[in-house]
Amino acid sequence: MEKVLNTGPVVQKEKETVTKMIELYCLKKHHRHELCEECQDLKDYALKRLSHCRFGEEKTACSNCSVHCYKPEYRQKIKSVMRYVGPWMLLYHPVYSVKHIFNK
Ligand SMILES: [Zn+2]
Repeated sequence: MEKVLNTGPVVQKEKETVTKMIELYCLKKHHRHELCEECQDLKDYALKRLSHCRFGEEKTACSNCSVHCYKPEYRQKIKSVMRYVGPWMLLYHPVYSVKHIFNK
């Protein structure tokens, strides 16, 4: 099976959103203006997972997805990021629809 990386607009948008969330998380939680090593690592991981998401442009919110492609440790991390920055995202980046990420 050939491997094609996702580059469509839906995935692209999710990448922007997850990047913003992690940046905000690091800023608020770790008080860093540039991503610390841990957050950088999480971001790289999240973007890679999106690039390889088997649903591509058909994907739903990751939290609704039946395929848990995240390793447990990263899953745990991204969960706390989302929980932490959720309210902030609405404030700073209302343009990004964070809502669907939270809809269970
Ligand atoms: Zn950080």
